[in-house]
Amino acid sequence: MYYREFGIPARIAKCYDVEELEKQVAKYNGKKNCYASVYVFGDEKPNGKTDYESAMLNTIWFDFDDIKNVEKCLKDVRKFIRRFCNPLKITPRIYLTGGKGFQMNIDFHSPVDLPAHLKRRAIQEYLKHLKKKYYLGTLDDICINNSVSCMRRIVNTAYISKIEGIPTGVWCTQFTVAQIMDSDIAALYAIAMEDTGIVYPPIKSPKAQRNFVEFVCDMLEIKHTVSNSIDYLLNEIEKASGSIKISSDIGNDYIKPVRECIMKLIERNVERGHSSHEENNVIATELITAAYSNRDIHFVFNSIYDEPAGEWGWYSNDPNIAGRQIELIRSKALNRYSKDKLIQLGICTEKCGCL
Ligand SMILES: [Zn+2]
Repeated sequence: MYYREFGIPARIAKCYDVEELEKQVAKYNGKKNCYASVYVFGDEKPNGKTDYESAMLNTIWFDFDDIKNVEKCLKDVRKFIRRFCNPLKITPRIYLTGGKGFQMNIDFHSPVDLPAHLKRRAIQEYLKHLKKKYYLGTLDDICINNSVSCMRRIVNTAYISKIEGIPTGVWCTQFTVAQIMDSDIAALYAIAMEDTGIVYPPIKSPKAQRNFVEFVCDMLEIKHTVSNSIDYLLNEIEKASGSIKISSDIGNDYIKPVRECIMKLIERNVERGHSSHEENNVIATELITAAYSNRDIHFVFNSIYDEPAGEWGWYSNDPNIAGRQIELIRSKALNRYSKDKLIQLGICTEKCGCL
């Protein structure tokens, strides 16, 4: 049974159908900011937590944010529509969040059934690729990093001021592509000052689906042509990802993939925008052992702190240059934390499947 998570924004409920979600919205709308998971999930872990890798990938979600200038977000949305959506005849769904940003979805013709362990990375890499290719400066790194576990603002709910805790008068509002292309930001906000109740259903696109699947093929170095069917390509992906050895191209057997509890720790810290010194050491040694590049490590820490690098040394202000602490750990070739130590720190549990 598939369910969607509901949050305020902390995840507080699992909703197995639309009615259950609507009940939660009715209860909290106007009092709290209302969020729902971008994806529905099919599985729980034995401890009752959501298994995010069971996400049904039927859409790609984009979160455009700029604390200072929402016009920049609108420009990025328009740029993406002109350069990506229009040539592929994809009609995205677009929402003004009610705060300083826009949310957008491109919807697949049918869900893309990737191997579970590949889903998180496939979405992260796809969004990173689109951000870079189309110069989407305001595409939020947190939405990229959270990937399958993203939470999005629910349409037609009130934006609640984070300082005063009361509605600002702006609603999370869906717009058509024509409205987004033709209206200025003031006109869009004017419409969003009323609860329009408008919901435009997704327009499911075979080309959006194909673009994503072909990207995953490229990521795994699978050859593809226009005549290959989606089912064929998914089968090739399944075959290839089953046999991939992370260390294959480096020929070094001390490379170990990032453990799941550490991925969770990173997600948690990105969400709360904070990480302790010890947790940073855990994360840094883990990523280095997993052969992450300085650029990728930079991305993780920058996603957690989401602010200029400062003097802490976990990242620098240049995305290509690692922080001082990372260099230090590399130079000392420190081991990643043992499972026992992680359990002591409360990061891992006996039940965790990691080694
Ligand atoms: Zn663990």
